Amino acid sequence: MIGLQTALQLLLSSVPGARVTIVASHFPGDWSVSYTSPRAGAHWRSHSSDAFDQRADRETYESWLLLTAVASAEETGLARTPSYYYWEDATDETVDGFRGLHWKHYVEGFRVLEKHELPHGAVCGVKYTTFAINPVRYMLYLLERCTALGAVTVRREVDSLEQCFAEDVDVVVNCTGMGARTLAGDENVYPIKGQTVLVRGECRAVKFRKTKSGWQDAVLRRPGEGTILGVSKDKGDWYAWHDEVRGLSARADGK
Ligand SMILES: Cc1cc2nc3c(=O)[nH]c(=O)nc-3n(C[C@H](O)[C@H](O)[C@H](O)COP(=O)(O)OP(=O)(O)OC[C@H]3O[C@@H](n4cnc5c(N)ncnc54)[C@H](O)[C@@H]3O)c2cc1C
Repeated sequence: MIGLQTALQLLLSSVPGARVTIVASHFPGDWSVSYTSPRAGAHWRSHSSDAFDQRADRETYESWLLLTAVASAEETGLARTPSYYYWEDATDETVDGFRGLHWKHYVEGFRVLEKHELPHGAVCGVKYTTFAINPVRYMLYLLERCTALGAVTVRREVDSLEQCFAEDVDVVVNCTGMGARTLAGDENVYPIKGQTVLVRGECRAVKFRKTKSGWQDAVLRRPGEGTILGVSKDKGDWYAWHDEVRGLSARADGK
């Protein structure tokens, strides 16, 4: 998703005549443990702590506000959705009137929940408008836009970044996710496994609950597909079993 989004931004803003080639082992529609994006929940929320990343998160939010105003969820896989976040304990994020939520000033509809709106066991919570994302659909939308603007795609496993510098290549943007671990020798990159269940029925709101043990219970809308329930967070776990649980259905009433 990051590579396709980067390619699109380059195509929209690049100098006239500049060409973009997208090289990847996996494209939307593929499934692999080394291809994270199709597995994402997914929704928008910023965890960024440095100013550069916070600005990028804000730009994403603002550009999706514009995109969802003109294009449908069927077309893009993006849907504006109410979001509730609950905490069972005060954290750095919640102290001093939720000072830790740097994004509270610009997201739409942000408000602190009243006591009577909190579910049993939660000490505080907020509501705001987020974006629910169907990752495969969004990536297909990005890919389509990129190719319509002249991008070329090449399915290839790259052994080194140097390989990408063919004679007429000026810039290589490395968006290889977990692949950066070997490709760029970046050992700070590690997998976090998240086990989820996709059920039928699209919930009306995204819900997150940070439990006393630090676990995050999540109910995420997958536009056009259903509801994701989860989610575990196992650092360093590469094991990819359990991919699909079928035959379950969710209540489509947001509970
Ligand atoms: C269960 C779960 C839920 C999540 N929920 C959310 C959420 O709600 N919101 C959110 O923002 N994030 C969420 N995430 C995180 C999010 O999914 C990832 O941060 C994001 O998908 C990473 O995208 P990426 O493009 O960097 O990597 P990837 O999707 O892994 O793409 C990497 C690309 O690089 C290519 N590549 C790698 N190595 C090579 C090579 N050597 N040669 C050629 N090509 C190569 C691959 O083929 C692929 O195309 C979630 C993750 C999980 C697992």
